[in-house]
Amino acid sequence: MRKVLTRAYRNFGKSDRDFVALGIASAAIVLFVGTGGAVLRQTVASWQGLGDGPDKLLVQALLLNIALILLGWRRYAELTEEIEISREAEQQARLLSELDPLTDCLNRRSLIPATDALMADCAARGKALAMMMIDLDNFKQINDLNGHKMGDQVLQKTARRIQAAIPRGGLLARLGGDEFACAFAFDPQLSDSVDAIAIRMIESVSHPLDISGCTVEVTPSVGISASNHRHGEAGHSGDANALMHRADIAMYHAKKQGKCRYFWFEPTMEQELRFRSELIQGVRQGIDKGEFIPYYEQQIDLETGGLAGFEMLARWDSPDFGLVGPDVFIPIAEDIGAISSLFESLMIQAFADASQWDSGLTLSVNISAIQMRDPWFSQKLLRMLVQHRFPPERLEIEISEDCLRESSGTVRSLITSLRNQGVKVCLDDFGTGNASLSQLRSMPFDRLKIDRHFVKDLKTRASGAKLVQALLSLGEGLKMPLAAEGIEDEEILGMMKSLGSIKGQGYHYGKPEDAAAVHKRLAASGRLACADEPDPALGGTA
Ligand code: C2E
Ligand code: CA
Ligand code: CA
Repeated sequence: MRKVLTRAYRNFGKSDRDFVALGIASAAIVLFVGTGGAVLRQTVASWQGLGDGPDKLLVQALLLNIALILLGWRRYAELTEEIEISREAEQQARLLSELDPLTDCLNRRSLIPATDALMADCAARGKALAMMMIDLDNFKQINDLNGHKMGDQVLQKTARRIQAAIPRGGLLARLGGDEFACAFAFDPQLSDSVDAIAIRMIESVSHPLDISGCTVEVTPSVGISASNHRHGEAGHSGDANALMHRADIAMYHAKKQGKCRYFWFEPTMEQELRFRSELIQGVRQGIDKGEFIPYYEQQIDLETGGLAGFEMLARWDSPDFGLVGPDVFIPIAEDIGAISSLFESLMIQAFADASQWDSGLTLSVNISAIQMRDPWFSQKLLRMLVQHRFPPERLEIEISEDCLRESSGTVRSLITSLRNQGVKVCLDDFGTGNASLSQLRSMPFDRLKIDRHFVKDLKTRASGAKLVQALLSLGEGLKMPLAAEGIEDEEILGMMKSLGSIKGQGYHYGKPEDAAAVHKRLAASGRLACADEPDPALGGTA
């Protein structure tokens, strides 16, 4: 390809010479007509015995003319070839700019006009156009684990699988990274056929790939939009760009719903996305403005009924959304990479609050899976403990059972390094994450906290008590003390007490409260670090 381009480039330089060659050839033809006529006349006369033959000078001029004409003819032939080569080169260059060099699919730039043309063709034939956005769910891990060479082969093979799944005449483009888009015509009366194609494509792409003896698996998330679905302001489905935008939103929805699935675009998805982007902006600004605050839930020693400590539960006191719970903002903070700074700002407040409590009271905090992957997590925590002079033995870190899906090496080394610092580690939501017995045995937790859904079932289901009993026996077998959350009333409390001696928490003891309410509660029961003595000068309590 490069050769063709270089040759074409060289040939462009000759174009000025072509004018001279053309002029010479034209003059030669005019002269040829003049000299040729005279030489012919003189030759014929000489044959008839009427003269001495053609003039030598004229003959030489004629031969020169013939040579010039031949030269001109050759140049003409060369010129035609040069034009052909440059046209070929132009075509190749255009093709290259329209294709993705890795997969030979179209690229983002060329997909748009091609889709618009296909859409016009569909409209003329009474067909509709389906646009699918396809994003691979776990491609980054494959790239990171096996290298870019393997990643490239995965993309090439995946492109072939997608191409095979779409109807003939369909368009396939790689938009960049692990993102593909395809567009194809379908019968608007048979939109199920698009579903069938999506299902087939997901199955085919998810099938394990064998690359150089290695088996790798990628799954796709797919979003679909169609030209016969009217969502536009004037009831129009819009152009290729609009279809791609909607398919992209649907694909994003598929990711959020658990990946490896497809969704058709619906207008509510766009609203959700807009709301989400408002939330993202709010979380970002809220961290800087200190809008995230700790709430505390009491933890009780069920045997004695005494207060053992508090679990810190984060809240977002948002000026726009009100008091927002962690289930909303923690996943956002994780997604936008702000979980560490959020955690740090909460911990600074929690250490300051807990320092005012009786030193016998513990502080439990939750961490998320993303934080567990941070190799510096324990060091950062240690630094904070030292900075705020908070005794590590008063701190308990809660790791949700879900997090045990992370590599067991990561989890074990985190638990070990936290425990080496004197911090306790508790397995939260015990019973929900399908942790295996051997996994639990190999993880040195200080405590297992039975999930509140099992505790709730104690009252509502006959099997509830058996399940909680089974979890308690498991804890005993592993020699790990237990805790229970979600104790909502006296009845559940009674049942939990009868099941063994454990730590408990729940709405029965009150809902989570802010630092001021906790401070008041502890002051009333005389459990502040230094009891707030009434200041005689002020005549009141601090
Ligand atoms: P979790 O650790 O399981 O926390 C217990 C959740 O159950 C809290 O919800 C609490 O308010 C609620 N709860 C407590 N007692 C009862 C009860 O008797 N009945 C019922 N129905 N619910 C009860 P919350 O505060 O909305 O927290 C939800 C989850 O958010 C927490 O679940 C925890 O996993 C996570 N979370 C909270 N704060 C943080 C944080 O600072 N960082 C991280 N990474 N996660 C946090
Ligand atoms: Ca917890
Ligand atoms: Ca829990």
